[in-house]
Amino acid sequence: MVQKYEKRHTQTEPFPYSLVEELLYLRDVHHKMGWIGYKPFRYTEIFGNVSQWIDEGVFGKKPGLLITGTGTGVKERIWGGDFAMVPDVDEDNFVITSYGPSGPSAEAGTHMKVSELMGRPKFICHPHAIMWRLHKFFSYLTTVEGVDYGTKEMVQEFDRLLPLHQAKSDRLVIMGGHLDGIVSWGDTVEDAMKPLLKYEALCKQKIVEICSDPKRRNDRLIEVSDLVTMEDLYNAFIGQDTEPVRN
Ligand SMILES: [Zn+2]
Repeated sequence: MVQKYEKRHTQTEPFPYSLVEELLYLRDVHHKMGWIGYKPFRYTEIFGNVSQWIDEGVFGKKPGLLITGTGTGVKERIWGGDFAMVPDVDEDNFVITSYGPSGPSAEAGTHMKVSELMGRPKFICHPHAIMWRLHKFFSYLTTVEGVDYGTKEMVQEFDRLLPLHQAKSDRLVIMGGHLDGIVSWGDTVEDAMKPLLKYEALCKQKIVEICSDPKRRNDRLIEVSDLVTMEDLYNAFIGQDTEPVRN
């Protein structure tokens, strides 16, 4: 049976703006890029989250990972009432301990694993985007298919991959069993997003390459001028969205 994290959450008042300011910015950029949000035709759940390591506790409690609250991806704008602080993830008993005005996502376990094994990077991103489904064209570190998010098996996958030298140089891991899910990290907002932008550029290049193949174009009988976004290109030339899956 697949085991998911148990959450032990203590409700508090909203976090002050000064605490959430930087993470709020990273989150807003993700939301604008469509990497955090709600697309029920594609993913059954609200998807994507970002976190920041905080050295000092708030409300007299322990410091830890500040993470966007569960379900907040649907909102256009968020504020200090939409975050959780996660001081501990107990891997043996599979418990996420947190406090804040909002509860954390079960993906907080993966964030904590990256934080621990990669030397406490300041920011960790976990976005989703359809074109990243092209990961098989590239050789990024990838968790095995069939392993879902928020499970012990996913944590074991990160245990296996993060010590590899490539993790350090790429700062990006593809979640093979968690549709279009990716994890990246860095010490500044810019550094944390760089691997995502680089990977996105590679995917776009690959899509254009596939679209330029006359055989594929004729096969599909598609007027390229009707296609507006990279997502249109993806759907037209590479494949339609699959059945909705859990975020
Ligand atoms: Zn996810």
